[in-house]
Amino acid sequence: MNSGKPGSRRKKIILYYFLGVVLPGIILGYMAFRGIRNDQVLREKDGQEKLETSSQTFFSEIDSDLGRFMVEQTSDSIVYGTKKNDPSILILFVKDSTGVKKLISHQLLYPPAELLTSEPDRIKPSSLLKEGQRLEFAEQRISEALRFYKERILNTTDPEEKKEALVASARLYNKMNQPERAKAIYEDIRKDYQGGLLNGRIPLELISGLEIVKINQAEGQKDELSLNLHKSLEQLLHPDCEYDANQFEMFYQSFKEIINEPDDVTDSLIRKLEAQRSRTDYLIKFLSGPELIAPSGQYQYGSSNNMTYSVPVTSGDLQAIYLTAEGNNDKRSVMVIDFPVHMKSVAEKLARKIDPDSTLNLKIEAFDGDLILSRVITDETGYLSFPFPENLPKWKLLLSENRPGFMTTLMKAGSGIYLFAFILIVLLMLLGFVFILYTLNVELRLNKLKSEFISNVSHELKSPLTSIHMMTEMLHHNRVENEERKAEYYSAMLEESEHLSHLIENILDFSRIDEDRKKYEFIDLDPDKLIREFIKSIREMIRETGFEISYSCPNKVSVFRAERNAILQVLYNLVDNAIKFSGTSRKIDINLLFNDNETQLSVRDYGIGISIKDQEKIFERFYRCGESQQSGIRGSGIGLTIVKKIVEDHGGYLTLDSRPGEGSMFTVRIPVGET
Ligand code: ADP
Repeated sequence: MNSGKPGSRRKKIILYYFLGVVLPGIILGYMAFRGIRNDQVLREKDGQEKLETSSQTFFSEIDSDLGRFMVEQTSDSIVYGTKKNDPSILILFVKDSTGVKKLISHQLLYPPAELLTSEPDRIKPSSLLKEGQRLEFAEQRISEALRFYKERILNTTDPEEKKEALVASARLYNKMNQPERAKAIYEDIRKDYQGGLLNGRIPLELISGLEIVKINQAEGQKDELSLNLHKSLEQLLHPDCEYDANQFEMFYQSFKEIINEPDDVTDSLIRKLEAQRSRTDYLIKFLSGPELIAPSGQYQYGSSNNMTYSVPVTSGDLQAIYLTAEGNNDKRSVMVIDFPVHMKSVAEKLARKIDPDSTLNLKIEAFDGDLILSRVITDETGYLSFPFPENLPKWKLLLSENRPGFMTTLMKAGSGIYLFAFILIVLLMLLGFVFILYTLNVELRLNKLKSEFISNVSHELKSPLTSIHMMTEMLHHNRVENEERKAEYYSAMLEESEHLSHLIENILDFSRIDEDRKKYEFIDLDPDKLIREFIKSIREMIRETGFEISYSCPNKVSVFRAERNAILQVLYNLVDNAIKFSGTSRKIDINLLFNDNETQLSVRDYGIGISIKDQEKIFERFYRCGESQQSGIRGSGIGLTIVKKIVEDHGGYLTLDSRPGEGSMFTVRIPVGET
């Protein structure tokens, strides 16, 4: 393995990380970012165009809806029929080719005077009832007049005459100071003639209502009075009849005179009546203005044989549309509709029509900010505002795109490449990050181990040198006189220098191994012979330390291909460790076996042993177990690394069997016939 110097390795890693990960990441990220921006701009542009088109479609839908509505409401069957009209129609009339106008329906307080039926069915009392009037008014013969009317009520076949006779009889009871009887008759009329008219124009309900509240007032029936008042004001607000402004005014003022202490309901009814009166007056003025039928330059739509024209009519709280269309038989229909009421009923339907898949958020805002429709699917802020066209009131249509979430957009077809780029970049960055963290961690650990190694090695080199130095000095100055002692000194010096040379050999080997420069010279080697020689060479050292080495070789072992010095180094390192880590034990076993085509060489001690956790690490370079460091046992942490490498280079492998406190056995297994 050639890993180079750690410092430069780290720089290389960082450089590779920048070149291989960060730089492409930045480039890819920038490209993806540009792509997404472009996509976004395109989508925004598309979205804006889509909103514009949608708004146009929506407005033309409103137009065709109004056209359809006009045709439906003014088709002949309705014009001449009796069908009740839509609640949004404020007024509907037709005009024939001679200019005669006919009112079909209205919701105003009173229609324009010119639209009133020119001659109500009956304005004057019937000739028969003239007799009663003579008795009542001219001759003041009240009870006779009453009898006459009662007789008519029972016997007449003419419904108009019956109505008149009923009203007259109630009036007479009042004159005769019998208010309760009068009230009873008025109440009957109000009940029996709902929607009925007197003289073809005046609602019987209103007439009797007015008379009843007058009686309530005269009789001091307070609660009844306010109830009846509410009922009548409500009828005044929705007259459903054809009286003119004067007749309305007459009733309105009469009721107002009766009001003494207005309650909340009365107050609000009066306010509504006032507002409705100004709307009515404005509309009447508008309708009597310059000719509005198909004026040039105003908006027109519909098919060519049924042209419909429209203009907005807005004043105060009135937001209406004036619509006119040519019908059959040279008739022209004119209609004014309450735009908010109409839109509230159709807006949802129109919105669904232009946007069936709900891809839009849509709001309709009236000119006063009132929300007519809010069809919001996701709450978006990017609304575009489109003013209603000029044939409609000045409202606003607010549209925004109902955007899908970020992931959905990314997953959409067309964005795939960017998504891919994104995932790739994120993965690369993550991978790079993890890699850098891992490498830095390894580097830091290695650095720490290395500095420990240097201090250990220096120490190991220094102590034998110091003793050699000391002994040489003493010998040099002839301070050792005893010959025996001298011999001891020489052998100690020899031993120390051998130890030194082993140590240096280890260091050199380690550097060769680390840089993959170690070369071997393989020869046929007899392991048994080699071990015996080795034991012999260290016998002296063993004897001094008090150790006892037993060697056994139970079966015949054949020669194998190996390098002599390398195997000696393996043996030395293993036995050196066994001596160092034997604790109080002084026994070492060396065993040589031939088994399963393998040469198995084991060195066993009965010392401190190695924990399971450490067993995985002791072959790493510079690693030393905690205990050995703490108990001050000398060492550099490279011995086993070298052993493992040499064994592997011989095609073999190393096994370890160890238990803390019981000792360790390292076994070198080299297959026979392999190199
Ligand atoms: P060292 O120079 O420290 O002996 P090695 O690489 O030879 O370096 O050994 C690494 C570590 O493995 C030693 O520091 C020691 O903790 C542990 N070790 C090695 N051999 C033995 C053994 N026979 N018994 C207990 N521990 C051992």
